[in-house]
Amino acid sequence: MRPLLFLDVDGPLIPFGGTSPHPAYAPEPPPDAHPLLHRVDPAHGPRLAALGCALVWATTWGQEANEVLAPRLGLPPLPVVDWPDEDDDPVAAGLHWKTRALAARAEGRPYVWLDDEITDADRAWARAHHPAPALLHRVDPATGLTAADYATVSSWVGACRVAEYGTRAG
Ligand SMILES: [Mg+2]
Repeated sequence: MRPLLFLDVDGPLIPFGGTSPHPAYAPEPPPDAHPLLHRVDPAHGPRLAALGCALVWATTWGQEANEVLAPRLGLPPLPVVDWPDEDDDPVAAGLHWKTRALAARAEGRPYVWLDDEITDADRAWARAHHPAPALLHRVDPATGLTAADYATVSSWVGACRVAEYGTRAG
């Protein structure tokens, strides 16, 4: 079974912060749109699709990610994680508010999570609580997803396949 890939938007796909200017891949968006939308590199779509994972939006963008971002990236509409109400499910100290919800959504499957806010606390929690391999990979929001990030995910997915099927061709 293909690993899930939970994808954050602000940071990994829409870079922000840092000291170097961000390239623009489209004209400046209209005033009623997300102000940094022109920073989304359409090449991320095919790169993400080539990772061999089932892509899932894991962002506060919700369904808007399918309406606004998927077409720019050349991706089909993707499943969207619904977030728990924090009043019902308070976040444990030090953990990201997405961490437990994503492990629950994975339902025991291997998963990758790409986000600019992941810390060691989230990784430790996933190791202790998720029964399958999980790659919680922090993306630098100043650059967004880089070739090095894709290489890390790709080799992890390859190792997962070896573990599951005993062959990279599996
Ligand atoms: Mg983010």
